[in-house]
Amino acid sequence: MLGGIQAGKLLVTNLIDHAAREHGQRDLVSYWADGSLTRSNWAEIGSDARKCAQALIRLGMKKGDRIATLAMNHLHHLSSWYGTAGMGGVLHTVNPRLFEEQLVYIFNHAEDRVLLFDKMFTPIVEKIKPQLKTVEHYIQFDGEKGDYPLYRDLIDAEDGAFEWADLEETDPVGLCYTSGTTGNPKGVLYEHRSNVLHAITEVQPDVMDLATRSVMLPVVPMFHANAWGIPFAAAAVGAKLVFSASNEAPVLWKLIREEKVTHSAGVPTVWLGMFADLDANGGDYGALKMVIIGGSACPRAMIERLMKAGIRVGHAWGMTETSPIGTTGAYPANWDDLSFDAQVDVICMQGRPPFGVELRVVDEDGKELPRDGESSGRLHIRGPWIVQRYFQADEDAVGADHWFDTGDVAVLHPDGTMQITDRAKDVIKSGGEWISSIELENAAVGCPGIAEAAAVGVYHPKWDERPLLIAVRKPGSDVSAADVQDYLSDKIAKWWMPDEVVFVDELPHTATGKILKRALREEYKEYQLA
Ligand code: ADP
Repeated sequence: MLGGIQAGKLLVTNLIDHAAREHGQRDLVSYWADGSLTRSNWAEIGSDARKCAQALIRLGMKKGDRIATLAMNHLHHLSSWYGTAGMGGVLHTVNPRLFEEQLVYIFNHAEDRVLLFDKMFTPIVEKIKPQLKTVEHYIQFDGEKGDYPLYRDLIDAEDGAFEWADLEETDPVGLCYTSGTTGNPKGVLYEHRSNVLHAITEVQPDVMDLATRSVMLPVVPMFHANAWGIPFAAAAVGAKLVFSASNEAPVLWKLIREEKVTHSAGVPTVWLGMFADLDANGGDYGALKMVIIGGSACPRAMIERLMKAGIRVGHAWGMTETSPIGTTGAYPANWDDLSFDAQVDVICMQGRPPFGVELRVVDEDGKELPRDGESSGRLHIRGPWIVQRYFQADEDAVGADHWFDTGDVAVLHPDGTMQITDRAKDVIKSGGEWISSIELENAAVGCPGIAEAAAVGVYHPKWDERPLLIAVRKPGSDVSAADVQDYLSDKIAKWWMPDEVVFVDELPHTATGKILKRALREEYKEYQLA
């Protein structure tokens, strides 16, 4: 027997149709690489998306074809997402900060037919072009016309009178490769349904708390797990989006203040830069009410600073494979009864999963561990926006029970809060016991004079591995290794104390702004502890 309710499909095109129809005049702002600013709205983006779909079809694109972008956050990027979705294509966002070989690998693996790119990335395009086997059309998103056709000209040649393609909700719509901290990049193929479910989850109060009156500036790039799905979530509620093609702190602060930004989202490194600018140049937080921080563990000092300024911190955990929301810093029921410090303690953890995703932790034999706040094991996740199979792979990435092994090590607390203790490969194993590199790093960046720190395990004849802390001093600071160890002494277990602290000018980062542990492990492989 069937139920008596209409069969509405969950399509990404419904998101843009809804935004254009119900929130057509809600403004969207774009700060471009050349320093100019344009204003548009959801109605105009809806119309541009239809023109983009027509233009892609005119270029010979068909359902399922991959359309790649190499671009920062801006409104042309946004309309190309919805336009590609609407003609049945798969929008493949590529991370321009990847190395040349990785880029070539990704484009060829995805078999992209069109590449839309920002003018600033022309040198990269020119360099890799001879090695790209499938790209037929190169289109420049912004700036003056040079050697390539301009996106604006291409779409303005169309009339926008276009009916979206006939789509199924399980049709693929987006493709994003993991940033490669874990070997060869792997493509996650999102579908209409998973993106829509993710979007309507994301706006919830316990997730990003987005509403029509929200003004969201996603610092997280559109090429990083779909800017965490924000461009879809914003359409679901008609929020105002502020895009910036620049990640310079002064630009971001100006936009936050002038556009009355209420929400923002980015990796911890972004906020380090924002704080440094605030300390140097002064200024306020404008109308900022909530920031979502994820992608790496958010240090306590950062959470405290924002919360003291009256800003809610949504500490989110996720990965490309999870669309990316896995958990968020939802407030527990007793939040109002907690002291400030206890509230900070809660937000330092990665939070709880929203309805739709399930978590478990398992031991090395795959046996489920209790949710007791102590048993640490590999974190598994499953749900309707979690990867099933990587693009072009022969086998599923999950077993018959759909649990996906995240490669993270975590504990689950009795109230369902998840706490990442490490990535499986980053764990430091000293005398057979695990030391959490994340906890060491987070404690270390609380030390005055320390800007950033990474903990890696280095060989030790007796203990197998011991922690080495590699730290960057804040400008003007002369903090010493002994000062750091002294500071840490009442914050971590005694046997966790880094044997040594080495200072460097800079730490290597991944293309998405995370500390590149693999490179550090490689560099310090032969390091001899005194
Ligand atoms: P990659 O897996 O290639 O690094 P992702 O951007 O998908 O690319 O990264 C996902 C990983 O980032 C997670 O598996 C986890 O290790 C880490 N991560 C994300 N958010 C957090 C967080 N809030 N706390 C700790 N680690 C996090």
